[in-house]
Amino acid sequence: MTVIRDAEVEGRRVNVRFDRQLVRQVSPHAMAPLGNEEVIEAGGGALLPGLHDHHIHLLATARARTSIDVSGGIDALSGAPAGTGWIRAVGGSDDLDAAAIDRVAPDRAVRVQHSSGAMWTLNTVALIAVGAADSNEPGIERDGRGRPTGRLFRLDDWLRTRVKDEMPDLGPLGRELSSYGITGVTDATPRIGPGGEHVFAAPTLPQRVQLLAEDAPAQCIVGPRKIVIADHDLPDYDQLREEIADARVLGRAVAVHCVSRAALLLVLAVFDEIGAVRGDRIEHAAVADADAVGRLARHGVAVVTQPGFIFERGDRYLGEVPADELADLYRYESLQAAGVTVVPSSDAPYGPVDPWTVMRAARDRRSASGARVNMKEWVSAKMVLSGYLRPLEALSAPPRRVRAGVPSDLVLLHLPLADALDDPRAELVARTWHATYR
Ligand SMILES: [Zn+2]
Repeated sequence: MTVIRDAEVEGRRVNVRFDRQLVRQVSPHAMAPLGNEEVIEAGGGALLPGLHDHHIHLLATARARTSIDVSGGIDALSGAPAGTGWIRAVGGSDDLDAAAIDRVAPDRAVRVQHSSGAMWTLNTVALIAVGAADSNEPGIERDGRGRPTGRLFRLDDWLRTRVKDEMPDLGPLGRELSSYGITGVTDATPRIGPGGEHVFAAPTLPQRVQLLAEDAPAQCIVGPRKIVIADHDLPDYDQLREEIADARVLGRAVAVHCVSRAALLLVLAVFDEIGAVRGDRIEHAAVADADAVGRLARHGVAVVTQPGFIFERGDRYLGEVPADELADLYRYESLQAAGVTVVPSSDAPYGPVDPWTVMRAARDRRSASGARVNMKEWVSAKMVLSGYLRPLEALSAPPRRVRAGVPSDLVLLHLPLADALDDPRAELVARTWHATYR
């Protein structure tokens, strides 16, 4: 048992007693210490339920932590650790091709992930290793003479069967998530792939994990089924309707990746025809016009958004997004006002994983350079936090609360909540506890 003394819970100063499974007691009255009980003095710091990141890619984030970052330039590849195996890099640019990587790293197989996650660029050694020239995968880009350029679109599954990757250790990422106060995550990867099921079935992470993958192992929390609508290659209407209908047959709601306006309109047309079910969600909804907002609300479909992109990619959006779409970009406030459930997430490794950075980005709507991005969609840090407190499995259920009988997933801050949310920072997290579920 642990007792936290003088914590702030929902504005009241209380003492809280909990064990590894559950919170046992929340009371303003003094608690007589039991035998060797751990006692923690909170000094008025806020005690919250653990935060839930509603859209993250665990394996990719763990791999990104051990990859070379080339967002500052491809020359960083020359700093790769010595060896003969594959070199994995992240942060690739739009125009990167095999020839450009060959100039820096001609001798070893290299693959560079685009910063969006939607494309890989391979060098010549790597293209030969995976047999790209002889494959007829449509995602392999070819030049005028039919030779692969090195650019592979949405071929993660195909690559995975050809590149023998070590499964990353999720332990360090789990500790990093704990340091932010995160006790639960939804992994939004469409397919876990061979080997991954062992990683997720074994308790390598202290966090609870819900999986959206079509091949989610049964020991895990199996959530809605992820469906990706690729922006450069929209599926036809019947194909998308069939995919959603297939998920329904398996008793699963759907989590549909929609970045472009066209992708969102396509899935809304399917919902108009066959209806939405409880648990259906749209990932990103990066561009949603007023009509789409109304239809999302009517169908009761939740939006899982990533305010962190406003900070990390805001300057690019301001340069690239057509002026008439800027008002539709990464909505938050207007979605909620229309009655749509909106929850925040990181989409790490493609967006910042730190939820406190995400809260700041949603409130300030500032890009990395400080420019404002669609300011009318700002929401308070408190509002974003309440989304992090929603249950993984029921996004429109009320935020979880600290009270007797709930799982002891808890996070203690150094400051009262109002002070912490004035200037949200990960350093304000004093300690995180993870409940054991049986
Ligand atoms: Zn994602």
